[in-house]
Amino acid sequence: MSKNDVDFALSDSSWSCSDLQTNIIKLEPKVTKRKKRVPCSKFMKKIETLQEIEEKCQSYFHRHLDNIWQNLILTERHAALLYQAAQTLSERISSSFFFVYLVEDDKLVNYQKTLDGNIVRGEEEEINKLSLAGSVAEKKMSLLIEDTENYRGYLESLDFKVDEIKSIICVPICDPTEVCLAVLEFFRIGVSTPFTSEDRAYIVANAGWIGAAIHQSVYNQEILEQERMKSKLMNYTQKYFSGERMAIETLQNMGITLKSTITANKLTIYAIDKSWGEPLVWIYREGYCVDHTELVRKNLPMTMDEIPKIFTIVINTGEKVVVTSSTDPRFGDHDRHKFGTYVRNLVLHPTKTHKGHVQGIIALLNKDVKGLTPKEEIFLDIIGDYCSLCCIHWQYEIRILKQKWSIIELKTLLNHNLAPCHHETKLYIENLKTFSVPEGFDSLTWYIHPEEVDSIPQLVYYMMDDLMGSELLSKECLAQYILKVRSAYRQVTFHNFQHAFNAAHCMYTIIKRNMNVFTEMEKKGLFLGALCHDADHPGLSNNFLMLIKSRTVLLYDGESPLENHHYYVTMAILQETKIFKNLDEKSYRDMALEIRKTIISTDLAVHFRLRNESFQLMFENFNFSEIKHRDYLKCYVTTACDLSGNSKSFSVVKKLTDNLLQEFYHEGDTQKSMNVKPLSLMDREQYDYVPKDQVLFLEVVVLPCLEVLAEVLPNTEELLRQTLKVRQKWIVIRDRGIEYWRYISRRPGGSMEARDTEPISTPEPH
Ligand SMILES: [Zn+2]
Repeated sequence: MSKNDVDFALSDSSWSCSDLQTNIIKLEPKVTKRKKRVPCSKFMKKIETLQEIEEKCQSYFHRHLDNIWQNLILTERHAALLYQAAQTLSERISSSFFFVYLVEDDKLVNYQKTLDGNIVRGEEEEINKLSLAGSVAEKKMSLLIEDTENYRGYLESLDFKVDEIKSIICVPICDPTEVCLAVLEFFRIGVSTPFTSEDRAYIVANAGWIGAAIHQSVYNQEILEQERMKSKLMNYTQKYFSGERMAIETLQNMGITLKSTITANKLTIYAIDKSWGEPLVWIYREGYCVDHTELVRKNLPMTMDEIPKIFTIVINTGEKVVVTSSTDPRFGDHDRHKFGTYVRNLVLHPTKTHKGHVQGIIALLNKDVKGLTPKEEIFLDIIGDYCSLCCIHWQYEIRILKQKWSIIELKTLLNHNLAPCHHETKLYIENLKTFSVPEGFDSLTWYIHPEEVDSIPQLVYYMMDDLMGSELLSKECLAQYILKVRSAYRQVTFHNFQHAFNAAHCMYTIIKRNMNVFTEMEKKGLFLGALCHDADHPGLSNNFLMLIKSRTVLLYDGESPLENHHYYVTMAILQETKIFKNLDEKSYRDMALEIRKTIISTDLAVHFRLRNESFQLMFENFNFSEIKHRDYLKCYVTTACDLSGNSKSFSVVKKLTDNLLQEFYHEGDTQKSMNVKPLSLMDREQYDYVPKDQVLFLEVVVLPCLEVLAEVLPNTEELLRQTLKVRQKWIVIRDRGIEYWRYISRRPGGSMEARDTEPISTPEPH
């Protein structure tokens, strides 16, 4: 029989162990599914969320396992187990002797039992068709030679000494991916009867189970290793991402772990420092302490020109570089003396910023075995990425810390800036003695007379003293507080201290009518909120600030940015000027929350959202004992106060509307200069339509709010009645036409009532 005939017989084998193993593996869908996962190739490309990092870590482990299967090297322990199994099988099929081979790379390694019972490594041979076991390992199919006489030619061509050998069974042991892990050979010698196909079937079936068992064992081993790796990384996470360690300390620790894991002789860390303009490279080398747990920074940094040339590959590509020989062309003469020792091999791993720029290099010199095993490579990648994460984390920590400091500085500056001088406070307190409360002050529709504007701080004092006097610290302290709040308002035409005072006055009159409705904490929150609700208002809208991406918007993440800023200023003043006597920490927090609710609800966007949720409820199911219902009510009260400029006499309403329009038109003009079309409300060319817009605004925004208020707090109905009157005036003007509106709007001062009687036929010339 020729060699080709034997090959044919081999491949014709109808029952190969790989078939069996495929069937076994099919019972483990988890494993086959895992194989389909695409391993993540780059960990640091983009760091977004912790979850993503976790997922990427997971995929590392999967890739790790994939690598294990692709590069599986069985251990001595596996060899011993395999030998024992082969011995049992050998006894069962009465073979005369047997051989166990393990596959390592492209070699078959024979394992033998010594006299003292140890399983030891024996000779090794290349895997090819030139030996029986090699041929089986390559084809991954079992072989049965019943009678060697019939195959003598073939066997001798394999350099096989037939001698007394009568019969042979040779089977491969494969893993689930059809990689041959080992080969078992069984022989019968002399006159004994030959092996039968049943014997072969028995061995093949068992080989299948042995393959599955090895698979399971390696799998378990990997799970254990995963657990160890996870707990190590968890340890790093807890240690370095929560404490206040310096980044370099962390790098040192990770570098040292790395060095010991991949058994290198020397560790050096290069940190690129760009804080001085021209980048400098600081070098951290191992010190002389016994356990090598500390790196020492060299006194002088290197410039980028002085660093080893090979580093530029890492810096430019952001990828690690592994040099396995000192003759590697990437490792030029220029570099040799830079490491302070003879370099046999070298691993360079980058640490990167969140933008992926290389900010440091971990260098490991003279590893025991050249090159990296797949396991070491993965470990290096993970630790390298952790180092990067750690540095990024640390940079953010520093940024946050700096920001905290600058916020404290800003608050101090703000308070210095706002603080009234000693004389001003003194004068203010003096004036308190002589001032008297104006007539009609208790009315919801009262508005300050232009001649009394200077007494606004005294009136604020009066209201605060009236509402919460017993809780307040001292006259001087309160005076300072009120003067600071006044200074916090800018000199804009509408959102100024007078507007704040008007809102606060309206709030005061509502609270006074409902002293038993609101708690003391709510009263404080509502009144202080109303007084400060537009503090430091720039006279521009949230929409405009968003359009120009102002810092205020960035600072407060786009949600009610102005209102958040007003709240911030409010609390900065309150923290500095502690006006309350006995407010413990919890009460202070509660008050801050109430103030916040008040101020944030002056954002009409917030008001509309809450109105949508609650409008029907306010009429049908309102319950004072429900916290949520109370919150809704406070929102309506606050909006009513903020918009109470529409609930005054018409001449006041007209004046306030003009003031507001001045701010709006300024914003509209700026938008036009940016080629953005402003809202018609902010477009001075749409001035003719102001009466129409005002009617609409009252009907859509103000009146529904006041209707709710009149329903829940009937003693506020005056606001609704007056606003209905104002709406009527606007309707009259709207209906009389544009010419009439132009005519009256050009007349400064005076009462609206008088103007209303002017005949439409006598408009002033343009
Ligand atoms: Zn306001």
